[in-house]
Amino acid sequence: MEATLLYEGKAKKIFETDNSDEVIINFKDDATAFNGGKKNTFSEKGRVNLAFSKFFFDLLHQKGITTHVVSFIDEISMRAKKVDIIPLEVVVRNFAAGSLCRRLGFEKGMELKPALCEFYLKDDSLNDPILCREHIRYMNTVTEEELAYIEQQALNINEIIYSFMDSKGITLVDYKLEFGRTRDGQIILADEISPDTCRFWLKGTMESLDKDVYREDKGDLVSSYKRLADILGLTL
Ligand code: UDP
Repeated sequence: MEATLLYEGKAKKIFETDNSDEVIINFKDDATAFNGGKKNTFSEKGRVNLAFSKFFFDLLHQKGITTHVVSFIDEISMRAKKVDIIPLEVVVRNFAAGSLCRRLGFEKGMELKPALCEFYLKDDSLNDPILCREHIRYMNTVTEEELAYIEQQALNINEIIYSFMDSKGITLVDYKLEFGRTRDGQIILADEISPDTCRFWLKGTMESLDKDVYREDKGDLVSSYKRLADILGLTL
């Protein structure tokens, strides 16, 4: 029997399972940038991003961070706890890049210490605008306590991934996280962590091993992702 499709986004399809508290997430092969404005398909994107997500979620689990992962099923699918995604994109930045430079004129590569945590509204029709905490207060999607928890978790995750990547000769420049609420009200890390959602530079340089290779037409995306995987000892 075909599993019922609950939701299809830009990079993933979510299917129902026989357990109403769990879903199956299928990683698609579409690569989009600039909020879907630039679109292309790579034959291995879904598999590659799931492999990276598994790698980073495993690292976070080892450090005691709770995530939506239940298990990894095959090369393009995982079983996850069913959550209502909180409509906030949580961005943590260690160095200035991307929209921060475009919007505020910050010099690319400027160190941001302590790390900067920003919130964007997850709404494609509004182009994911940046939010200040006061805006979030009027949206009633999270309580003050939940927002503080999300920010603290995002910064804890930053410390874990930053120091791990640093030890491998890679700089975690910035990344985007999404959190979800389980049926019993727990807030957990959801979505994915991959070079699609993070910026990684070879340490001491601004050479990208992430989606910027595609956004900025700097070469072949899949071979950059494979290079990153090699550095991490990850077999793709
Ligand atoms: N990001 C993402 N999805 C989005 C927007 C941003 O995964 O819809 C990630 C992006 O890959 C980068 C970080 O969040 O690692 C910060 O992105 P930024 O605000 O600089 O925007 P961009 O330059 O990617 O448009």
